[in-house]
Amino acid sequence: MTKFTELGLDPKVVQAVTEAGYETPTPIQAGAIPAALQGQDVLGIAQTGTGKTASFVLPMITLLAKGRARARMPRSLVLCPTRELAAQVAENFDTYTKHLKLTKALLIGGVSFKEQDQLIDRGVDVLIATPGRLLDHFERGKLLLTGVQIMVVDEADRMLDMGFIPDIERIFSLTPFTRQTLFFSATMAPEIERITNTFLSNPKKVEVARQATASETIAQEVIELKASRRDTAAAMKREALRATIEREGEACKNAIVFCNRKTDVDIVAKSLKKYGYDAAPIHGDLEQSQRTRTLDLFREGGLRFLVASDVAARGLDVPAVSHVFQFDVPTHSEDYVHRIGRTGRAGRSGKAIMFATPAEGKYLDAIEKLLERTIPRAEGQAMVSEDSAPDAPAEASDDAPKPRRTRGGRGRSRKADAEGQGSEQAPAAAPTPAPAEAEAMPETAAEPAPEAKTADAPAPRSEDKPRRGQRQDNRRNDRDAVVGMGDHLPSFIALSLDERRAG
Ligand code: AMP
Repeated sequence: MTKFTELGLDPKVVQAVTEAGYETPTPIQAGAIPAALQGQDVLGIAQTGTGKTASFVLPMITLLAKGRARARMPRSLVLCPTRELAAQVAENFDTYTKHLKLTKALLIGGVSFKEQDQLIDRGVDVLIATPGRLLDHFERGKLLLTGVQIMVVDEADRMLDMGFIPDIERIFSLTPFTRQTLFFSATMAPEIERITNTFLSNPKKVEVARQATASETIAQEVIELKASRRDTAAAMKREALRATIEREGEACKNAIVFCNRKTDVDIVAKSLKKYGYDAAPIHGDLEQSQRTRTLDLFREGGLRFLVASDVAARGLDVPAVSHVFQFDVPTHSEDYVHRIGRTGRAGRSGKAIMFATPAEGKYLDAIEKLLERTIPRAEGQAMVSEDSAPDAPAEASDDAPKPRRTRGGRGRSRKADAEGQGSEQAPAAAPTPAPAEAEAMPETAAEPAPEAKTADAPAPRSEDKPRRGQRQDNRRNDRDAVVGMGDHLPSFIALSLDERRAG
């Protein structure tokens, strides 16, 4: 088995890795690090949980250890789809550079422009950023990308989902042609393939097994709920969630509960709290400081249930999460793999339980096709029947934040939604396929950009607008297949799972 000492890393980096408690490189690390150290481009097909962050951070800092930072010209760039992921990469960077003198700046929403500008002015070795925020800094003339020697694109498939590809292409074009590129994606969609063909030069391709197949330590289960009415489905799910938590008992030390929509994240967290469970929500509409507090609390073991949207929990690295509950079946099957990968990390056992109604059967089928296996159905399926959820409407109206009709409701524009005000839709009225819309918020667009209002930070220039618009259009294209259904419910979705299977 390869050792860290055999990969060609700087001894000070190896020391930091050893102190972090890692004994042997993971397959993505063993495959990517030597090639990256040789200056080769790398195309890593791997997802979180495989050790992919270290597979680019370690060679990057080894290469950078030799030079010196120059004012306004970062020497390397790491692009991440979400703030959380960027912050996590920054944490990794701190851990691994502890014996080196390298500097970094983190350009994400919720961190003031001024502070980051000062760091950039002084010169940083590594810039870790979300694409929109990076371009905001660039357009304000505070940043030169012509000194970038190494550029990392992390979670490219998620960038694609979020409509960031035009931004990524633009950023590529702003960096020197001679740069080294380390590119990571969990899947190779045709658009991702196109980008890699365009911007990577003879890359070393390192592909590691999908987590769902690699991590046999995750026990998976689907609880099918026979909810035929959409208005009662959510209440049935909440009841089933509580019943399942009770069933799991003490084995359920802590859990992430994924919902497709931000509204449901709030409602489920509130409902769990109401029933005495220690729960808090996290999604893109919450203040960054609150998101950070909640995440820290969960990481430290001070919070049992983290109710989350996919984007907010993206790349979330909490080593010991005993359970993942999926309140909704994700509309993108890869998200299932990402979600369950939050548990069973680093060889620990974990349990992933998903609630599915007949209307979600189509998405469940797609997941099972991706996994190439059938997910076991829970014993005593449909422990909560529609009849046994008489309190459902009352509970929903009691728990749920009241829909703010005055702010748009059904007539809301997508623009308003993307600006982070889009979670007021009445949950019961939303068509089932809508989750994708709420979930796919571009990270930067989902925040109200409070910095733009401060005296030291002028509002983004007008050129920003088409770019943001472009992101939106792109996202719309990505999502048409789902969002375009609107209120029309195709008849096959209305059939129960059994009926469709029989058919
Ligand atoms: P990532 O795929 O980058 O999100 O990493 C997943 C988790 O694996 C993180 O908690 C890392 O700290 C941890 N990790 C990374 N490399 C190793 C390694 N070689 N041995 C053990 N754990 C690791």
